Amino acid sequence: MLCAFPPTLPSLFCFPKKYVGSPFRRKHPAGTDFRRTIMNISDLLHRALRLEWLTPEEGVFLFENASTAELMHVGNAMRQYHVPGNVVTWIIDRNSNTTNVCIANCKFCNFYRRPGHEESYITTMEEYRVKIEETFRLGGEQLLLQGGHHPDLGLQFYADLFRQLKSEFPNLKLHALGPPEIAHVAKLEGMSHYDVLKELKAAGLDSLPGAGAEILSDRVRRLISKGKCGGEEWLDVMRAAHQLRLTTSATMMFGHIETNLERMEHFAAIRQVQSEKPADAKGFLAFIPWPFQDEDTILKKLKRARNAVTGDEYVRMIAMSRIMLPNVVNIQASWLTVGKQVAQVCLHAGANDFGSIMIEENVVSAAGARFRFTADGIQQAIREAGYVPQLRNQQYEFRELPENIVQQELDRVAMVVD
Ligand code: SF4
Repeated sequence: MLCAFPPTLPSLFCFPKKYVGSPFRRKHPAGTDFRRTIMNISDLLHRALRLEWLTPEEGVFLFENASTAELMHVGNAMRQYHVPGNVVTWIIDRNSNTTNVCIANCKFCNFYRRPGHEESYITTMEEYRVKIEETFRLGGEQLLLQGGHHPDLGLQFYADLFRQLKSEFPNLKLHALGPPEIAHVAKLEGMSHYDVLKELKAAGLDSLPGAGAEILSDRVRRLISKGKCGGEEWLDVMRAAHQLRLTTSATMMFGHIETNLERMEHFAAIRQVQSEKPADAKGFLAFIPWPFQDEDTILKKLKRARNAVTGDEYVRMIAMSRIMLPNVVNIQASWLTVGKQVAQVCLHAGANDFGSIMIEENVVSAAGARFRFTADGIQQAIREAGYVPQLRNQQYEFRELPENIVQQELDRVAMVVD
């Protein structure tokens, strides 16, 4: 019976029989768990629509065998369950950096400089003032503030910085640092993740970005970001943030050296941590997958890892994000890395959010991400895709579009501006 869904799920979730595949036997190498397992695309999609947790192996099976139309249909139906209607949200903020000094040496990163390098910097208060005032003029109210693992910047530095920013700009929201930086500061200070986050929250931290997740498998992390926290540490920081009622997001940077199973295990780890959050915590408010940007990276030069993720594969990953994460409400399409057209298709495959116009972005851009939007441009792109744009804040609450909003001036030679 194809339409036997719980009564809480709308009939939209009935999956047309003509779209579903037939059961067949997978031919995986000897030694894998599912060599003799018969899986069925239709059964798996129906279980996904009932918000059941598919195993990583079942996720691999769907990802490798279901058609893009099947995945999009189910991804979109699950989007309609979590976020009904035709509104697509977006936000105005800027990704500024505390410092580019870093000792983690990630092989995909062109942003960082070693300590003592002539191009190394720590952002000054005067520079923050200029950036924040411009952000307010452009309609934003938040800094997404991140940086490298500076060997000398500990808890006091970040707590003082947050207090100073909040005392000068009481309306400013700080979506700042990320699990790897929290883990780094905790190691420098000999403190727990929980205690570091508690101090930072008291100093003005509003929410914690899901940066630095890459792929949570330690096999992958050893090869691409050995100096960064491990997968379990990343998840433990997020557990601590949820205990403190800090809202967070989760990310995945894929398309380098990971396997499809490692992608699906990443989803499974995120939904597990989400299921452990206190009932009154929002936990992971959003999930944002994006393809590895390879331009001039050591990962490309040494490991020959290239960004070979096609538009079709990205759309399929957005749908898989919905399917594998039934307890995360918002899925964001990364137009910064895939461009306007692919991101628009993602809105029909499970994504309900277009993220930020990113008044400033220095990390992913340093590895080749060239796409940019103005505030007008992002709204137009959402309308073109058939949806209604809605400005939001970091808590995914709707905001009125500020009056007399100034459009960002963008370098149309160096960037692809839509
Ligand atoms: S990605 Fe972050 S942690 Fe890794 S090298 Fe770059 S700045 Fe450092």
